[in-house]
Amino acid sequence: MEFLAIPSQQFDLPKRISRLGELAANLWWSWNPDAARLFAQLDHDLWERLGHNPIRLLNEVNRDRLKQAAKDKDYLENYDRLFAAFDDYFKKDAWSQKTHPQLINPVAYFSMEYGLHETLPIYSGGLGVLSGDHLKEASDLGLPFVAVGFMYAQGYFNQRISEDGWQEALNNPLTFEHLPVSLVMKDGAPLTIDFDFPDRKLSAQIWEARVGRVPLYLLDSNVEANNEYDRLLTARLYWSDLDRRVMQEILLGIGGVRALRALGYNPAVWHMNEGHASFLTLERIREQVAGGVAFASAAQKTRAQNVFTTHTPVPAGNDEFPLWLIEKYLANYWAELGLTREQFMDAAKHSTPHGEMYSMPVLALKLSGGSNGVSELHGEVSRDMWKFLWPDRAVKDVPIQHVTNGVHTRNWMGRRMNTLLESYLGKNWYDSLDDHAVISRIDEIPDFELWNVHLHLKRKMAFYLTERVRERWTRGGFHPVQVVGSGVLINPYALTIGFARRFATYKRASLILSDVERLLELINRPNQPVQIIFAGKAHPADDPGKELIQQVYRAVKKAETGGRIVFVEDYDMNLARYLVQGVDVWLNTPRRPYEASGTSGMKAAINGVPNFSVLDGWWREAYNGKNGWAIGEDKPYESNEAQDAADAESLYNTLERQIIPKFYERDPKEMSSAWISIMKETMKTVIPQFSTRRMVKEYIGKFYIPALKK
Ligand SMILES: *Cc1c(COP(=O)(O)O)cnc(C)c1O
Repeated sequence: MEFLAIPSQQFDLPKRISRLGELAANLWWSWNPDAARLFAQLDHDLWERLGHNPIRLLNEVNRDRLKQAAKDKDYLENYDRLFAAFDDYFKKDAWSQKTHPQLINPVAYFSMEYGLHETLPIYSGGLGVLSGDHLKEASDLGLPFVAVGFMYAQGYFNQRISEDGWQEALNNPLTFEHLPVSLVMKDGAPLTIDFDFPDRKLSAQIWEARVGRVPLYLLDSNVEANNEYDRLLTARLYWSDLDRRVMQEILLGIGGVRALRALGYNPAVWHMNEGHASFLTLERIREQVAGGVAFASAAQKTRAQNVFTTHTPVPAGNDEFPLWLIEKYLANYWAELGLTREQFMDAAKHSTPHGEMYSMPVLALKLSGGSNGVSELHGEVSRDMWKFLWPDRAVKDVPIQHVTNGVHTRNWMGRRMNTLLESYLGKNWYDSLDDHAVISRIDEIPDFELWNVHLHLKRKMAFYLTERVRERWTRGGFHPVQVVGSGVLINPYALTIGFARRFATYKRASLILSDVERLLELINRPNQPVQIIFAGKAHPADDPGKELIQQVYRAVKKAETGGRIVFVEDYDMNLARYLVQGVDVWLNTPRRPYEASGTSGMKAAINGVPNFSVLDGWWREAYNGKNGWAIGEDKPYESNEAQDAADAESLYNTLERQIIPKFYERDPKEMSSAWISIMKETMKTVIPQFSTRRMVKEYIGKFYIPALKK
């Protein structure tokens, strides 16, 4: 079999720098800041205007500029150094080949979304960014890995906030030729896979993206063979209508297995990131049944290689469908599994207050050899939530473990911060990322050097916010109050708190606004100003989430805030990068225990930005009394109202009595050494532990290797 991913991009580049095209085609560049610089240096302004898209940059940059760069000694020096590192990365044996040579067939990873870079908007939030970081780390570790997801033709929406604070969604159809993806071809035509619904066939073609060494295959239903309705199936993330949701999940789980088979893969492990991909368990059984094995033994045989990660801490958040809807699309399928309708439904049945449902997590839990939550507390919550599936076991023996999430360090750490660590921990510190002894040498960094790097990143953020506002103002239709409310009055020397995440009600974005009078008094004190930067999207169908944004926006527009409370539109990975690197404190106020893990706080912490958060998810494990601040206590409350009141009180008190005084306790060098010691403690505790380096190694040890042995 001969497969050919058509390179959709052809560049006309001077020979001496022609490999820039190769670099643009592999997302490896996106987590290697020196590679991004090579593009930016060709034309900084264009690079920003094109939203950091190297494919467009190489096509649109002035030809004379390219010729000039091809002769520029400094540029060529950077170029040669970068490509030496690039070649080395792909050639050398990495950690996995050295320590786990038995891992030969790949781990197949399935996720509804991937947050790899802002130019490829096939993610909506934390789940996607986690999948993206997982792939980058798998590539770095040299783990044999292949991933499956969707190529959403319209990406995720862009957010605009109207003058009265209402979120508007702009859908921007993606231009695939501008993206680092190529259509997989076979015998001169696109390779397709299909699935038979009772009344029609659904087909999909496959795009390939390269994430370092890891291939990512993205299914796309926009093919001629499908009817108009089905062609739109992969146009968007998370359709609100249930028909489309179930069809998407059939395509991901069943179609995803078929795609990997059509591409010639024989994965050793099948990892489902959340229940959206649970149908893959059935498709693997069907393959065996087709070969003459009975359902029960096929389930037994395939189970050990399935790994399921749940991210949902509340029953209502779980993905489930009415049985009639499952029947509508899968009525042909149970016969192929050798099952009756009833037996088929039993595999995933969940009795809920609104009747019997077909539950995607139940299906995955029953048919996986290993399952996990994404923090210690979330593991506990999950065991309790799903204990009814194991009625003869004590809750603590319910077979759901936990692997706390992590972030991909190089992807999220400021370039200058990395350079600083290189000078004090050693050029190759990154190879020892998860070694606490190496990372603890952060103590050797002189305070003023760390502070200067932080101030640099903070000014960069403030400058970036101003430029965004300028661009928006120039386009017109932007009220001066919105200009102020978007951050033009931000002072890079004032204590700055960041709060950016999805606007879901449990995240309680407005907790810090619950006593506006008290807050205004706190932020406007002479000589001790405080600024708060908000950002985040609400799901387009989530009106309570949008009302929260509006509530925040009303506070933003008050003149009494002095432009110190701001809301920045259109949160994405790019804005996230500026914020987590540039603020002084990262605030998170979820209602416990609904934040399964949370990851944005980790991104902040690795840049020396301490967290100020509820003891939920990852922060409950990381907080040690010296590396940031806790909001509320590590305990359940009797009601939401009780928790909200207690947490608000705790938040204001800690801000007033600890955070503000410590930040402004300046020595003669205009630094607070007490503050800098918190920054160092933050980095020392979070870098080694809450990285995808530690996380992926934990998945290997707890799940991937054991799956091979069974
Ligand atoms: C990291 C990230 C998230 C997830 O943040 P949480 O802390 O888990 O809420 C969401 N969106 C973007 C753009 C991110 O970069």
